[in-house]
Amino acid sequence: MNTLSVLAFAAIAAYSSADVGRVQLKGRLGERLDTMIKRHVAACDVDYITAPFMEKTETKGWWQTEFWGKWMHSAVPYLRYLENGAGQGAEAASLRRKIDRGVERMLASQEACGYIGNYPDELRCGEGWDVWGMKYTMMGLMHYYDGERETGNGERAQRALAACRRLCDYVIAEIGPGGRRGRELWQTGNWSGYASSSILEPVMWLYKRTGEKKYLDFAEYIIKGMSEPEAGPRLVDLALKGVSVADRNGYGNKPESHGGYVMKHNRWKSYEMMSCYQGLLDYVEVKRGGVDSGGVESARVGDILRAAVMTAEDIVREEINLAGGCACSEAWFHGARKQHLPYLRLQETCVTTTWMRFCEKLLSMTDDPKWADQIERTFYNAYLGALRLDGAEFAGYTPLSGNRYHGQHHCYMHTDCCTANGPRGFLCFLREMFRVKDDTATFNFYGSALVDGATADGRKVAFDMYSLYPRANSVRIVSHTETRLPVRFRIPGWCGKAYVKLNGTALDVSCGGYFTIDREWRLGDIVDIKFEMPVIAHVLDHNVAFTRGPVLLARDSRFNDGDMTEPLRKGIEDGAQMCGFAEVRVPTDDMWMAFSATLPIGSHHENPEGALPSTVFFCDYASAGDTWKRDDFYRTWFPVEYGPAE
Ligand SMILES: [Zn+2]
Repeated sequence: MNTLSVLAFAAIAAYSSADVGRVQLKGRLGERLDTMIKRHVAACDVDYITAPFMEKTETKGWWQTEFWGKWMHSAVPYLRYLENGAGQGAEAASLRRKIDRGVERMLASQEACGYIGNYPDELRCGEGWDVWGMKYTMMGLMHYYDGERETGNGERAQRALAACRRLCDYVIAEIGPGGRRGRELWQTGNWSGYASSSILEPVMWLYKRTGEKKYLDFAEYIIKGMSEPEAGPRLVDLALKGVSVADRNGYGNKPESHGGYVMKHNRWKSYEMMSCYQGLLDYVEVKRGGVDSGGVESARVGDILRAAVMTAEDIVREEINLAGGCACSEAWFHGARKQHLPYLRLQETCVTTTWMRFCEKLLSMTDDPKWADQIERTFYNAYLGALRLDGAEFAGYTPLSGNRYHGQHHCYMHTDCCTANGPRGFLCFLREMFRVKDDTATFNFYGSALVDGATADGRKVAFDMYSLYPRANSVRIVSHTETRLPVRFRIPGWCGKAYVKLNGTALDVSCGGYFTIDREWRLGDIVDIKFEMPVIAHVLDHNVAFTRGPVLLARDSRFNDGDMTEPLRKGIEDGAQMCGFAEVRVPTDDMWMAFSATLPIGSHHENPEGALPSTVFFCDYASAGDTWKRDDFYRTWFPVEYGPAE
């Protein structure tokens, strides 16, 4: 590497997967996080999820080997979160023991050839989810490496990194360029190469941590497979042509159309596709960081970044619903325009979590707050809606109308892809809530929290934040900072007007994007922010739904206030600000927010007792159906009546 690239490499290596942000979350969100860590992440039976690696009994080509790596993705940063907080000593110590024990078992299971997995030799690196499993194992080992390195356990960190290297070397030898298996990496696994190609992400992580050129070369080989073969993933050219994510089949591949869970040649799988872009963005990050010096290579890197951004923008336009979720039966389907209809298996939690990760990466690389808008909407709705109230589990699918329930057990194990993926999503919210980067502090999300950080030259930055947001529309931020620096406050894209006061004096605010206060901060400075947060109607094909700020509203059978399928009268315009909604006390502590709404609802226009508006109740979408009981059902889209001329 030249001098420039060495410098860039050092900067990139500073990124850590153990990062949990510098936030201690309080209030209702803090409670939800605490219970999830306690009852889900820290309660994990690590012997159970590492057993497949020791037993090696796989014959069906399934994905038992993804669970440990996914767990490590959340266990390591949440251990940091517990250790940063006060009074969590025993819980943190127990989680630490589990993390250490899991790694020891994983290392013990590694074969002389470097393989870590549960497939017999004849089935390795072929059909099924073996490469996918190794992807998660590599990530798990690097989560451990990051966590240990930063806490000074250099020897343990190096052992994990060495095992990760050997595993990656094994993959390179088997299905890398000229590999022993005689097939290309993208030809293995499912979904036109998406699943296996997504190993690019940990390969880039490994390059960032070792600086070894062979891993960057391997990444280039994977990207070639992702972009060039006719029948391959085609993640760059189809995106640049503007082909919507749901329409990428039929370009050189022969997709199956049976709608099943697993297909060999099909490009509609949401989770796996986005996971590939995640790795591509890591590659762009390295190249932009200085290794790349311009010219043809630079144009190619620019194409890859544009392909990722265009794909994400297409997902927002075509797929994301008002709950910030997407995918039917795990596939893209132009879901934004079909969200009022009862499509099956909506909003797989794997998709929800991966979408949040994709947006987080785009936010960090583009500094465009529209990606924070997306994380916010998904987090408060689809994400929290999937997290069971007691924190112990995530739903597999979460309909927009219906009720909530467990995912199914996968691969003969007492877990599934979604509940394993769930805790990773909260990290995106936590990490991006408050950041100090390039000597600028940024608030992306609001709630009750203590946040802190430091500038590059070591000046301390800290604030207390008090807010019931998004139940309430105001935030108070109190400074514990005594230095000069710009602090940015995100004004959400949905907000038409925001009011900001500094120590009681109103400031001029333009909406959308970041609002900056650059000053010599003093202890006790107070920033008050108020967002206009009216209820907005959304009309789609004779159906209507309502949002308030980032939150989708739902009727819930626990309100016991009549037939939820009763039509609303015609005349509500798309985008209209609704009057007649008022916040009320929640009928049960299970619910976060409740609103009464007086609406033109019902099937009789003729007589006053039928024609007058009626009062019904709404809660936030995440609270709807959150008892996970069959008799607790909810609805977000409501039919609008038809007239004789339609
Ligand atoms: Zn899943």
